[in-house]
Parts: sequence; C-alpha cells; structure tokens
Amino acid sequence: MQRSASFEVKAYPELWKVLDIDIERLDKMRMVLGEVYEKHFLSQENRPKGMAYFDWVISEIHGGRIKEILEAKREGRVVVGIFCIYIPEEIILALDGICIGLCGGSPGTIPDAEKILPRNICPMVKSAFGFKIAKVCPYFQSVDFVCGETTCDAKKKTWEILNEYISTYVMEIPQMKREHDKRLWLEEVKLFIEKMESLSKKKLTLERLLEGIKIMNAKRKALQRLNNLRSFNPALISGKDCLLIEQIAFYDDPIRFTKKVNELCDELEERVKRGEGVKDPQALRIMVSGTPMALPNWKLHNIVESLGGVVVNEESCIGTRYFKDLMPEDFSDLESALKALVDRYMKIDCSCFTPNDERVEQVLKEYRDSKAEGIIYYSLAFCHTYNIEAYKIQKACEKEGIPFLFIETDYSPEDIGQIQTRIEAFFETIRERRR
Ligand code: SF4
Ligand code: SF4
Repeated sequence: MQRSASFEVKAYPELWKVLDIDIERLDKMRMVLGEVYEKHFLSQENRPKGMAYFDWVISEIHGGRIKEILEAKREGRVVVGIFCIYIPEEIILALDGICIGLCGGSPGTIPDAEKILPRNICPMVKSAFGFKIAKVCPYFQSVDFVCGETTCDAKKKTWEILNEYISTYVMEIPQMKREHDKRLWLEEVKLFIEKMESLSKKKLTLERLLEGIKIMNAKRKALQRLNNLRSFNPALISGKDCLLIEQIAFYDDPIRFTKKVNELCDELEERVKRGEGVKDPQALRIMVSGTPMALPNWKLHNIVESLGGVVVNEESCIGTRYFKDLMPEDFSDLESALKALVDRYMKIDCSCFTPNDERVEQVLKEYRDSKAEGIIYYSLAFCHTYNIEAYKIQKACEKEGIPFLFIETDYSPEDIGQIQTRIEAFFETIRERRR
C-alpha cells in the first residue's frame, strides 16, 4: 500500500543562518531528499513499525539533531566530525564528546569539490569536501574539529586542504599489522586522547573509558542483533532499511539509537514467530561487500531490491566492519584498557592494510551467516584499495562456488540502467543454481 501523505525533511532557516549555511541551496537539497526518501523508503510494503523512529530521524536530519548538538556544545561538550571507523569513538564518548560521521554520499556537492580537488578521486571524498566548501551541511558547520586519518591517499591529501576551512586533526593509521604498527597506533591513540583532553578540559580515567566502552558495546551489540535477524527467510526487514539504520548510527545519539534498534529487533523477533516478512520468500538473497555507502547513497540497494532481490548483509564500514568487534569490559588499569582498544581497532579489516587476508575469511563467514546466495562486490570509482582487493575476494568466491559480481560505480544516476542489466543477468545465474 502506497502512503499518500508526503514526507517532509523539516527546514530550520533560523538555525541554518546561525551556522552560516547556504540556506537557499540546503532548502532545495532537503526537498529533494524528502522526495527521494518517500519514493524509496516509505513506499515499501509492510515495513516494521519500528522504522517510524528512523523516518523521524531523517525528517529532523537538518535541525532536530543539530539542536541537540548545539545544546551539548553550550554545555562544553566537544563535537568531533569523522570519516572513518578507525577513529576510536569510545575515547570521544569517555571525554563526554559527541562523534558525528560526516556525510559523503551525495552527488550534489561533487561539482563544488571539483573546483579544487581533482576529478579522478573517489566520490566519497569529493562529496564530503564539497559539503564543507558549499556550506550545505549543518553537521559540518557544527563540529569543533574534523578528525581525519591516513587510510587512503585521497583522504590524507584532502585533509591538508580541508584544514583551510575547518580545523582538521589527522591520525596516522598504520597500513600493516605487525607489533611495531600496533605500538605506533597506540601512540596515535594517546595523542588523540591528549587532543580530546585539552579541548574537553577533562582527564581520561579508567572509569570514564569504561563508560565509553559500555555505550559503544551496547550500540554494536544492537547492530549485531539486527544483522543476525537478517538471516531469516522471508526477510523480516528490507536491506534498504537496514542500510539506512547503519548510516544513521553515525550521527544519532548512541544511547537513544541503541534503544530504538533493540525495540525494532523485538518487533522483528515477533515477526519470526509469525513467519511474517517484507519480501517474497523466493526473493534472491544478496550480500554486498566493499566500500562504505555514506548517507544518502542508496543506489545499489535500490537497484537490487527494485529487481526483486533483498540485501541481507553489508560487509562494509557502514555495515559489519563497524560493529562486528566488541571490547572487553573488565580492566584494572587504563593502560591495559588502551591496549585492548588498540587490539580491537586493529581487527578492522579495511583494504588499506597489507596484507589483509583476514577480510577474505570474514567475507566468506558473513556470506554463510547471512544465508546469502550471491555477493555483489561494490567499489567506488577511484577507490584503488577496494578495487584491487576485489581480485582476492573473487578468487575465494570462485573457489567456494559463490556467485560473485563486481560493480564499480559512483553517485551519478547515469549508469543505473547498465547496472540493472548486469544485476538481472547475475540474478539469472543464481536462479539457475536453484533449479
Ligand atoms: S573503508 Fe577503511 S578508510 Fe574507509 S571508513 Fe572503513 S576503515 Fe576507514
Ligand atoms: S572509498 Fe576508498 S578512496 Fe574513497 S575514502 Fe574510502 S578508502 Fe579512500
């Protein structure tokens, strides 16, 4: 059943003025976002009731959460903008800070970025940079500083230029996982703690860190719970809705978010008992693996699900890579807690590492756990590390007899027809295996 009421992303012109936003442009963007959201999300049949909260978050994306953030800033809390799941959120939370994953999933700001950055770098970096220079992101306008990292060349060189627009601190992420790389990462974490301590005027203690760890563990457990529920057939929730929740995870209040994800999971567990789903039990079950999909990049999921498939897992940083690993919660001193934190973050199998064979194993594991029937490997254009690593994943999939499709794309709608044709042919291969 189609919803007739039109969805509105709320406007906050007074607030935007305070933040020095390009009001006219953001107003147009929020209207487009509302239309796209209504078309792709609200038109889905039999959505879980618990999605109403996430719809509300989107309707308040340019104001409600921003008001909360500005209120927190007035209380002296530090707001940090990040672009990578390597930035230790536990530390930000421990020092009473707020961590915001900044968006880089829209094509709208890429022409702004291309006035400064080269065209042939990944669209995520260009989109995010464009949001800042075009002054159309209330989050970018609210953060105290951006914490970048050295995961890829496009990012690390962009931070130097971004620093001309907003204070940009950079953490060096090692590219290997030997013992001395871990020591380097521990040193980097300690420097980041110093930075946060000086801005927050608070001292990191074991008690504070444990608080941050508990909040993040609870959030990650809720996301794991949701992801595990995706293994049921018929699918209890669409892949698009799960991707949306994974994207919202990066800027919502973590405690409220965790509560809402758990409430949604309670509802989905009731659906399991009733054998109720959102998709036909015959829908092809697809796992997506590769580069992260920042808000509002819903392109691949839209195509897969409009062709009758269902995405059942994202092996991605906006996906399992963000929440698959938890932290222990029993430490007697700060130093050992920090070492465990370093170990936890070193388990992130980003393609910027060499070698990165644990990712191959992880992809196969997630494929089995999610009961997928095929993998679509997603690489953003000009993302060299994920693009090259596709070779190893493809080889492992071929060895295991897993249907595999490689898609390299950007945010433009131009190649949608071509991708549809390729996915249709891929679906046919999977159907063939079922017969
Ligand atoms: S893909 Fe790598 S660089 Fe990008 S967010 Fe994930 S860990 Fe960070
Ligand atoms: S998608 Fe690839 S190129 Fe783009 S920011 Fe991430 S690691 Fe860098």
